[in-house]
Amino acid sequence: MSEIIKKQAPLILEEINKAKNILLHCHPSPDPDSVGSALAMKFALEQLGKKVTAIQGDNEIPEAFAFPGVDTIIKKSYGEIDSKEFDLFIILDSSTPNMVSFKGPVIFPESMKTIVIDHHVNNIGYGSLNCIDPSYPATAQILFDLLKEMGIKLDHDMAINLFMGIYTDTGGFKYAAVSSATFTAASELVFLAPDFGKTISIMENSNTKEKFTYIGLALGSVKTYFSDRLAIAAVTKNQFDNNNLNGENYSPSEVSGLLRSVKNFDISICLIESAEGKVRMSSRSKDSVKFDVSKLAVALGGGGHKNAAGATIDLAMPEAIEKVVKIVQELYNF
Ligand code: 5GP
Ligand code: MN
Repeated sequence: MSEIIKKQAPLILEEINKAKNILLHCHPSPDPDSVGSALAMKFALEQLGKKVTAIQGDNEIPEAFAFPGVDTIIKKSYGEIDSKEFDLFIILDSSTPNMVSFKGPVIFPESMKTIVIDHHVNNIGYGSLNCIDPSYPATAQILFDLLKEMGIKLDHDMAINLFMGIYTDTGGFKYAAVSSATFTAASELVFLAPDFGKTISIMENSNTKEKFTYIGLALGSVKTYFSDRLAIAAVTKNQFDNNNLNGENYSPSEVSGLLRSVKNFDISICLIESAEGKVRMSSRSKDSVKFDVSKLAVALGGGGHKNAAGATIDLAMPEAIEKVVKIVQELYNF
């Protein structure tokens, strides 16, 4: 249990106790750490007798996420709700306010307190109260400690949600921030939810034909720079249209992750033009010390972790590629 969590837990509990109507969200292109953390927090707040609304945020929750409680998530983005109805917004796994929504300006009314709970290095703490610890590999692992410190009793459904967040954000227990504490948390969660494997199996076996068309386009587009040290896959809006695909439904992160496995590629990037003039960027590196891609993402107005980070670039594809190559060359001396 980190000192940050020990210190913030009573303050967070005090704010929750004062609140009547609490809002939770999932970040754009929601991943299991975002969804699992939101759902575990929702169950915890309900245990405390609170009225809770969890919204999906900008994008639909993938069908592959068959997590307990997922059907209670409201299909609205932050801009589609009246934030004045809530007296507390607990913002999870979101390093910047635009991870609440990219669809419009994110404004928090004065009547609504905000608690930011996160593990991203670039999170500067934009909440009225913040619990940010980048030494944790997943927001779900922060919640595992925080909820216990707040006196919440974890149950089966909370455990599955927290386990899925930890399992995926650690790349299956292998990223640098994984510690023995991660395995201790996982062990306790599996004790509560011995059937966790079913949820992983659904997640891993819910791919669609269309998704492989997209992945094929992306892999076919790979170009390398600086003697193969940088690899970029790029799928344009035109390519999506020509294949009857909607770019908004696909995430560049799977492709950047696949490219990372290539021996010579130090930095792997996937760019997708999900709408005209809007390119989503996902970057991965194998060596987070030499090639900290959160710096690249921050330079592009986004954020993330040292070996996995992303941003949205408001440019057409050719200009976006040019910009990314230039920043990579400057940042990493390629
Ligand atoms: P992915 O490449 O898997 O989409 O994202 C990798 C990491 O970067 C995740 O932790 C995600 O939250 C973060 N990230 C991705 N896109 C953005 C962005 O546009 N802004 C910020 N602040 N973080 C992002
Ligand atoms: Mn996370």
